[in-house]
Amino acid sequence: MSVIVLAEHTQGVFKKKTLELVQYAAGIAQSMGTTTTAVVLGDATDAEMQGLGQYGANKVLQVADSRLDTLNARAYSKALIAAAQKEGAKVVVAPHDVTGKAVAPRVAAALKAGMVAGAVSAPDLSKGFVVKKNVFAGKAFAFVNVTSDVKVITLMPNTFQVKAGAGSASVEKLDVAFEDKDFSVKVKAVNKVTGEVPLSEAELVVSGGRGMKGPENWGILEDLAHELGAALACSRPVADSHWRPHHEHVGQTGGTIRPNLYIAVGISGAIQHLAGVNGSKTIVVINKDPEAPFFKAADYGVVGDALEIVPKLTEAVKKF
Ligand code: FAD
Repeated sequence: MSVIVLAEHTQGVFKKKTLELVQYAAGIAQSMGTTTTAVVLGDATDAEMQGLGQYGANKVLQVADSRLDTLNARAYSKALIAAAQKEGAKVVVAPHDVTGKAVAPRVAAALKAGMVAGAVSAPDLSKGFVVKKNVFAGKAFAFVNVTSDVKVITLMPNTFQVKAGAGSASVEKLDVAFEDKDFSVKVKAVNKVTGEVPLSEAELVVSGGRGMKGPENWGILEDLAHELGAALACSRPVADSHWRPHHEHVGQTGGTIRPNLYIAVGISGAIQHLAGVNGSKTIVVINKDPEAPFFKAADYGVVGDALEIVPKLTEAVKKF
C-alpha cells in the first residue's frame, strides 16, 4: 500500500527536481503511515538508486530496459502502472514536467484514480485528501479534494527545499511485459543542452525580453550571468523570434522556475510570463517604463535603459 514516485534520471543521475519529488512522496507516505517506492526506468547502477534513500525512498523498483532510457509515454505509463499494481499503491507521484504531463494522466485513467496536476503543497489529510494547486496561470490557487481510492499527483518543480538525510533504499527489479507497439514512437535524436548552469536547477537566473532589442545585445546579459554564476532565460517572443533557444523560454507555455533570484531585463511582466517565474524568492526588474506591470511583482526595481544599467551592474558584481 505504498506511495510510489516516478524517479526520472539521465544515465543514472537524479536531478534536483527528482530528489525533491522523492522527498515529497516520502512526506506523503509518512503522513499516511506507509512506505515510499521509487520507480526507476532504464539503466542506473544500484549505488545510484540506493542513494534515493537519502531523500526518503524505502525501496526502488527498477524496470531495467534500455529502451526506457528516453521518454516514451506509452511504455513509461505501462511500467508505472505495473509498479503501482505490484505495490498496491494508493498514491502515485510524478513530476509536473514533460514526462509527468505525458505519463500521469494515462496512469490515472488506467488506475481509475483522481488526479491533481501541478500540486504546490502536500495533501492535507485532516480534511480528506486536499491538495493545493496553481490555477489561471499561477494567478490563483485551487484546493482539490481527491476522493478516489487511488490518487495521482504531479508536483510543480522547485516547490520545496531539498535536504539529504541518511538512508539507503533497497533495489528490486520489476519485469514488465512490453510489446513492440509500446515503443511505436521512436526518439530519433536527443539534443543535449549545454549551458553553464541548467535553467531548471539554477538558483540565480538572468532573463531578457523584447526590451533587449535584438540578439546582438545578449552579450551583456551573458556577462552578468557569468559573473553571478546564473542561468539565462527569456520571454516567449524572444524565443519565437529566434533571438534565444526555446529551452530558455519561461512562462505559461515555457519552463517553470523558482530560483532564489530572478533578474528580469526588458520584460513587461505579462501574466503568461509571470506564471513561470512568480515563485522566485527575489525578483529584480530592470525596465525603462516605470508603469511596466512587472514592477508590481518585483522586490527591487530599476527604471532605466537596460543597455546602460546591465553593464554597470556586472561591473559592480565583479567588485564583490
Ligand atoms: P514586450 O511586451 O514587448 O515588453 C518589452 C518590455 O521591455 C517593455 O516593458 C518595455 O518597457 C521594456 N523595454 C523596452 N526597451 C527597454 C530598454 N532599453 N531597457 C529596459 N526596458 C526596455 N510570454 C512569456 O514570456 N512566456 C510564456 O510562456 C508565454 N505564454 C503565452 C501564452 C499565451 C496563450 C499567450 C496569449 C501569450 C503568452 N506569452 C508568453 C506572451 C505574453 O503575453 C507577452 O506578450 C510576452 O511575455 C511579452 O514579452 P516581453 O515582455 O519580452 O515583450
